Amino acid sequence: MDLPNLHVSSHPAVLHKLALLRAETTEPKKFRELVREISWLVGYEALADARLRELRVRTPIEETDGVELADRIGLIPILRAGLGMVDAMLELMPTAQVWHLGLFRDERTLRPVEYYNKLPDSATVELCLILDPMLATGGSATAAIEVLKKWGAARIKLLNLICAPEGVETVVSAHPDVPIYTAALDRQLNEKGYIMPGLGDAGDRQFGTGHTD
Ligand code: URA
Repeated sequence: MDLPNLHVSSHPAVLHKLALLRAETTEPKKFRELVREISWLVGYEALADARLRELRVRTPIEETDGVELADRIGLIPILRAGLGMVDAMLELMPTAQVWHLGLFRDERTLRPVEYYNKLPDSATVELCLILDPMLATGGSATAAIEVLKKWGAARIKLLNLICAPEGVETVVSAHPDVPIYTAALDRQLNEKGYIMPGLGDAGDRQFGTGHTD
């Protein structure tokens, strides 16, 4: 499959942090820091073609040309694992709006179920960045993209930390206009829908909820 819209980072800083993120010995505090740092770097790459508007700026020395981001940007974290990516993206784009979308995966069907969506009636931003650390089956991502397209978002990008080929194929087939930015493209899904080698459950690892005993 030709995937011109899949952008897998090859930056050494991303790859270094990714190995630490994957390690099962990485504790939630360090894990959250790494999610934030890698999100920043992947987000930076995702903004490489953002639209700019010219402006004039006065330095202490003289007036000169400058630019500012022209698109109104919306960050759409998919609850709950996407929350850990928000702060990094707000550092990159301080004026971005944040619209949370609650989708959980039905463990039996592996299909997404929407449980939280407070988007206003029509789109208030031009560029939407969907934030979800793991692109597994692609079910949540395609559901989120469909919600945003109905909402009237002009441009949509998907930001992940780790993708499975199955999820990429699902998203690219259903929405070839949506570029995917990620730190890694892994091997495959296991029978429970987890990415291999992956990092386990991104929500549990961020929020320390992995062990119930
Ligand atoms: N969601 C996760 O948190 N991890 C996976 O491997 C797949 C989906």
